[in-house]
Amino acid sequence: MEMKTRIQEKFISLFGHEGDLYASAGRINLIGEHTDYNGGYVFPGAIDKCIVAAIKTNGSAKVRAYSVDYDEMCEFGLNEEDKPAKAWACYIFGVCRETIKRGGKVEGFDTVFAGDVPLGAGLSSSAALESTFAFALNDIFGNGIDKFELAKIGQSTEHNYCGVKCGIMDQFASCFGKAGCLIRLNCKTLEYKYFPFNPEGYRLVLVDSCVKHELASSAYNKRRESCERAAAAIRKKHPEVEFLSDAKRVWLDEVRSEISDEDFLRSEYVIGEVQRVLDVCDALERGDYEIVGELMYQTHFGMSKLYEVSCEELDFLNKLARKMDVTGSRVMGGGFGGCTINLVRDELYQDFVDAAVEQFTAKFGHAPKIYDVVISDGARKL
Ligand code: ADP
Ligand code: MG
Repeated sequence: MEMKTRIQEKFISLFGHEGDLYASAGRINLIGEHTDYNGGYVFPGAIDKCIVAAIKTNGSAKVRAYSVDYDEMCEFGLNEEDKPAKAWACYIFGVCRETIKRGGKVEGFDTVFAGDVPLGAGLSSSAALESTFAFALNDIFGNGIDKFELAKIGQSTEHNYCGVKCGIMDQFASCFGKAGCLIRLNCKTLEYKYFPFNPEGYRLVLVDSCVKHELASSAYNKRRESCERAAAAIRKKHPEVEFLSDAKRVWLDEVRSEISDEDFLRSEYVIGEVQRVLDVCDALERGDYEIVGELMYQTHFGMSKLYEVSCEELDFLNKLARKMDVTGSRVMGGGFGGCTINLVRDELYQDFVDAAVEQFTAKFGHAPKIYDVVISDGARKL
């Protein structure tokens, strides 16, 4: 049975009438990694894996929320002290609170929701959940909050109610996603632009290594510090450099002797990555997916050898993709685990997936997970 039918039936059985249906999506990022905090570009898109919710106001001051996937009900009020104990309910509570903080109206409602965005796999199921409710509440209560602010409601929910200090990309992609389009977001100015992504003859497939190495958060802070030191050195000669991504490649060479080898390599990656996002956009406008794929490999090389945020499992999957002549492959997300994102020609798809599962399992003792993704619509009413 289709997800929305199951959700509607559950809503009727719990509350005795139909709810209005809303959905929002998880996301991928085709290219542009570790560029966000350097004021550069990211290039995400919404995917065909969503959260779907049925919602109706209930005339009270309470929210009654039922999670189909956890088979749990949670009831909570709308004041700051009413924060629920269940982690999944905090996302909904946070969205309510952040909407209210922005002057929006939120009153009691009933909801039943479910999703097929894999949890914690790097596809941002939490942003899908936040965006679904941010969009739905805005519509139901007629608040007229613009889409960018809806994304910020999701981001603030993570910061203030879920303990995750995330950037804006995930919620932005979930709120702004459109079928057949990726969105280039300038993380400094927040300007964005849609680019066509219709890879006819190719598929996007994620291979999830199912590992998460512990290094991630301390390494992340060290990378940020490297970038800030390099940007400060360049700024002395070029005061217009606010973030590292503002610097030209030759400006980095000018400060070669003033910064450490490590900071130089990190910066080389970042400046290269910002340019690669622009190059991918050009290639997409020409419909040249072979170039897109080659740039993905270059990103993987940079993340592995210059920025040093890859790991054995991800390098293994990337190398296998290269060996099998897969069009493009790279680690997606911050690194040290998670997925590779692969652009694969249709005729190679099955062989690649089979080989990835078999060879990865043989080497690492557990199977990777495979997620096919299609670039699809973000937040919407169904
Ligand atoms: P991700 O990388 O997928 O965003 P997070 O840890 O940030 O991983 O968010 C996952 C959390 O979001 C889950 O632990 C749960 O609380 C909530 N969540 C996501 N999808 C669902 C769902 N289908 N049903 C209930 N809660 C969900
Ligand atoms: Mg998340």
